[in-house]
Amino acid sequence: MPLLRDLYLRFSRARQRRSLPPPRRFRYERFGGIAQLGGRLGMPQALVFIDHDRARALGYDHPPNDLWPTREAEGGTANDGHDAATIDALLAEPLSAPLEAHLQLTNRCAAGCQGCYTGATAEGSPGEWGLADWCRALDELAAAGVFHVALGGGESALLPWLGELLQHARTRGIVPNLTTSGLYEDAVLDRLCGWARAGLFGQINVSIDGVGPDYARVRGFDGFGKADRALVALRRHSPDVGINCVLTRATFPTVATLFAYARRRSANEIELLRFKPAGRGARREVYAESRMSDEQHRELLPTVLALSRRHRLRVRLDCSFTPMVAYHQPAPQLMQFLCIYGCAAGDLLVAARSSGALSACSFFPSTPARIDALRSYRDSPDSFASFRRYRAAPPEPCRSCEYQSLCRGGCRAVAVHLHHDPQTPDPECPRVLAYRAQAGASPPTDVPAAAAEPGTEHAKKRLPVLA
Ligand code: SF4
Ligand code: SF4
Repeated sequence: MPLLRDLYLRFSRARQRRSLPPPRRFRYERFGGIAQLGGRLGMPQALVFIDHDRARALGYDHPPNDLWPTREAEGGTANDGHDAATIDALLAEPLSAPLEAHLQLTNRCAAGCQGCYTGATAEGSPGEWGLADWCRALDELAAAGVFHVALGGGESALLPWLGELLQHARTRGIVPNLTTSGLYEDAVLDRLCGWARAGLFGQINVSIDGVGPDYARVRGFDGFGKADRALVALRRHSPDVGINCVLTRATFPTVATLFAYARRRSANEIELLRFKPAGRGARREVYAESRMSDEQHRELLPTVLALSRRHRLRVRLDCSFTPMVAYHQPAPQLMQFLCIYGCAAGDLLVAARSSGALSACSFFPSTPARIDALRSYRDSPDSFASFRRYRAAPPEPCRSCEYQSLCRGGCRAVAVHLHHDPQTPDPECPRVLAYRAQAGASPPTDVPAAAAEPGTEHAKKRLPVLA
């Protein structure tokens, strides 16, 4: 995209955002608080965890209900006196509310992707919520202190009332982000471009799992042309447009092509996601074929860092890839600083089905509660119990892993699918594979032979860039 056009887009986004209510700036936590940076002036947004002193310095000095210790209890000093271990302990407790909620506004989508994690259909699911229900949910999320919502589906762009919901989120100080397939008629795309131009979205990512024929290898049909057209159109109206890509065994070797394509299209980020055994993706043959091999998991971080540098592109790795990052032994403080956290389910993150049913994450079965009763569910002692139990008493090798407080046992959705037990570590974590191989344990029954390939040894690597 020509530089002048891009500058114009950024300027006009900043102007549009000034006419919208500002997003939530801060939330008190026991360790201090969470500040949201950027956003209003059109800068990228970031959530930053800060201690009591930093919060006070920013003018946040009135925590509710004795959330913070008094200065006397802190030793009467201006400094909190919290050493790294104390802050770690405070961070190990669940946050007062999630940072983000993933809302599946509809399960309607006619594309029929072979690995769709929600099992979406052209008819959608029975009992789907409408605009009034989702507005009520946003009220609850705002009252709880949630910063962002990630809107997905199904295909949420098909909903004619999506614009009203975006406005409602903005009036409640919540930033709405969207993931969309781009597989729809021009009229739907035009409407979406209008909302993007009005600055209503924080970020829109188009799902593109591969370029050209690679797209069909993941999805089972050729939708690349339509997805590409949506990316081009949306990028013409907003600078905050990127790509979501689910990595699979077949397409990981071609990920460099995706980065080059993203650069050509002026995407502002690529988010790489691990294939999850959920929805149609949970079918034994689909998951066995799609999941990346252990060797690919170990190559992921160096490959992505090199491509990110070469193409000067921001990259996000989804939470389930944290064990593959930890394998390279970056400094834990650096991971904390970069907010690289593992399983966020039921803590930093919650999700809701199209019927409003609340779950810990999009890849987990629902709880009996609805998202519009989030606070009362989270206050109950048994809420998200298996996730809390794992964090409190992880088994080996997570127990002795220096990344446990960040990684939290890897992806619980994969662990449950392969072991049928929420209290087992992520069976695709390189360190877990090495531990099991050493203990002579057989791989879990659903793991295809490739997972037990040689080369699973947990080599002591340290990437210079992360050291
Ligand atoms: S189960 Fe945990 S790690 Fe896996 S996708 Fe959900 S939040 Fe992320
Ligand atoms: S051993 Fe456990 S905590 Fe450590 S990286 Fe693997 S899954 Fe994460």
